[in-house]
Amino acid sequence: MNDNVQENPYLLLTPGPLSTSATVRQAMMRDWCTWDDDYNVGVVENIRRQLVAMASSTPGYTSVLMQGSGTASVEATIGSVIPGNGHLLVISNGVYGDRVAEIAQYLKIPCTVMACGEVGYPDATSMTAMLQEQPEITHVAMVHCETTTGMLNPLAEIAAVIKQFGKTFIVDAMSSFGGIAIDMGVLNIDFLVSSANKCIQGVPGFGFVIAREQALIECAGRARSLSLDLYSQWRCMEDHHGKWRFTSPTHTVRAFAQALQELQDEGGVEARHQRYKESQSLLVKSLEELGFRTLLPQALQSPFITSFYSPEHPEYSFKEFYTRLKARGFVIYPGKVSNADCFRIGNIGEVYPDDIRRLVSAVADSMYWL
Ligand SMILES: *Cc1c(COP(=O)(O)O)cnc(C)c1O
Repeated sequence: MNDNVQENPYLLLTPGPLSTSATVRQAMMRDWCTWDDDYNVGVVENIRRQLVAMASSTPGYTSVLMQGSGTASVEATIGSVIPGNGHLLVISNGVYGDRVAEIAQYLKIPCTVMACGEVGYPDATSMTAMLQEQPEITHVAMVHCETTTGMLNPLAEIAAVIKQFGKTFIVDAMSSFGGIAIDMGVLNIDFLVSSANKCIQGVPGFGFVIAREQALIECAGRARSLSLDLYSQWRCMEDHHGKWRFTSPTHTVRAFAQALQELQDEGGVEARHQRYKESQSLLVKSLEELGFRTLLPQALQSPFITSFYSPEHPEYSFKEFYTRLKARGFVIYPGKVSNADCFRIGNIGEVYPDDIRRLVSAVADSMYWL
């Protein structure tokens, strides 16, 4: 039985923060000194090494941890990587892609958006045309799993074009890293951004960036913000064995170390991917049997979060449906697509196919509009 059922009033079926294991939460029950090797060498350096090992089968990569929510790590990357004479192309099909472009706008970084539409699939041919028409583009950013809809974007196809044109590739893999294999060396990804509270199943409080070391070294002095200077944060961690420049979220970091251990114990990224896939297909199949329809065809769907159309019934309200599910032990997520009325259900975190089965009967009991 999922231990969350005893310890929490409800299971979070959200894209993060998500339901964590009791052992991850227990890992926070002691204090740490940010100057001491027990923390820096024993915890932080181990995490940095494990992240690099997960992200690439070839050498030449390094990692940096950054305080704040995932967006802070995206902002640190955009603000520290693109030089003064650079130009960013953002491939966007949702809120998180748009957010990367908004960060560029705040930082006054020249930026072009390839807007695919929220249910549009980024297409390598249009991107090739764009790179040919705009040779001033130096960097390309794309979200891997667009959490707005749950779409898994075509990383390998896009990566191949970027490699052909020799551009720097930045990937927001926030909601996918740890839940699906990504090999930065093979895909030619220069910077990959993710955070503690998504597929690695830690608690919120920091994000991380895995970078091609040579590309990161070139970022010295480029940052547009002191606290979000990715290069300086990395330099400090390198020179002082895992020391963060400013107060680090020690308890969160220790919980993350435990979460990484549990990912290994589960069998690594591939085993976790299989669990997510099993939960997600079970979820879709069962809710379709109850009459729900998904926003995306299954071929474009990630195994992390799924958008379902709201029932077209005059008595249906998300709030009422949500409240009834919550009373039965499950918290779901509102929709985020602008032109379709949807709700979302995530299945990442300490959530198993058995929990999905219990959810399905809770959904059946909560369809008060029928
Ligand atoms: C969760 C998420 C983020 C970061 O969100 P925060 O609320 O800042 O942690 C960024 N991109 C994607 C695709 C996400 O799913």
